[in-house]
Amino acid sequence: MAGDGGCCTVGDHSDPAARAWLNEAIRRVEADANRSADTHLHVFPLPAGWGIDLYLKDESVHPTGSLKHRLARSLFLHALCNGWIREGTTVVEASSGSTAVSEAFFARLLDLPFVAVMPRSTSQEKIELIEFQGGRCHLVDDPSSIYDESRRLAHETGGHYLDQFTYAERATDWRGNNNIAESIFSQMTLERHPVPEWIVVGAGTGGTSATIGRYARLGRFATRMCVVDPEHSIFFSAWSGDASAYSGRPSRIEGIGRQRLEPSFMIDVVDHMIQVPDAASIATMRLVYERTGRSVGGSTGTNVWGAFQLVAEMLSRGEHGSIVTL
Ligand SMILES: *Cc1c(COP(=O)(O)O)cnc(C)c1O
Repeated sequence: MAGDGGCCTVGDHSDPAARAWLNEAIRRVEADANRSADTHLHVFPLPAGWGIDLYLKDESVHPTGSLKHRLARSLFLHALCNGWIREGTTVVEASSGSTAVSEAFFARLLDLPFVAVMPRSTSQEKIELIEFQGGRCHLVDDPSSIYDESRRLAHETGGHYLDQFTYAERATDWRGNNNIAESIFSQMTLERHPVPEWIVVGAGTGGTSATIGRYARLGRFATRMCVVDPEHSIFFSAWSGDASAYSGRPSRIEGIGRQRLEPSFMIDVVDHMIQVPDAASIATMRLVYERTGRSVGGSTGTNVWGAFQLVAEMLSRGEHGSIVTL
């Protein structure tokens, strides 16, 4: 590095100490993945005579208890291999909460300072989870300012803004490498309808829908990608071209629905979209608990409500098959 004899500048990747740090950082992130088990694919009970099977992929059982563990791992590996994160780099992220919990976990794994830039409305519970993982929370009054504020903080500290909303779709290896799509398709192989008709997901960054949709196309599966969107989100109106479908208000369903058309939302990978009323999401969240005994969040309600619409359409056409949601 600069000052250690003048041979190297800060940007010099041939510095052996920097390369040794990078190797160790990647080993630690990969070792975390190597210690982790895959997430379950549960069967949601439907009447057997329908000939339609519904599955729920449970993304809540990662080490941090956050659904964003896969994304955080991908963003760190992407930034490390790009040379954007080095020894001592302050890592900054704009987040509504869950991503920051997982990123704080990885920052601590690498002995790096972590700052989450979040709307002031973020729940105290989320803030405590981030702090528990060793992160610092920087709260802003205007939710739409989290992106610029993150960029500013990263610049000021000489740090790196991870920028999940830009990089989610490319940091994740969509062709495979044990991503969520490969996991779903391999867990389905022994089912009576192994290739799902539909996979139903919500969009926050849009990374999950991009990964699964591209994977299904690459594998030449018949599976179509359906994105469910809460009533106040911009994604549905952008996809449908119906500007009146966007209220301009923030989403009330945690983790999904945005007020900005996020760069990671790959609109042409989406085969179908369903706009789901918030009341339907919450009612379905309760129904999932009643039918499965599993406590789930509002976005699972959104997903399952959307899946039910597709089940009803298949039923009315006399079709058999399977649907997977998250
Ligand atoms: C982030 C999130 C999603 C969507 O994932 P993206 O890949 O960011 O689009 C869905 N549900 C919940 C609860 C989330 O936190």
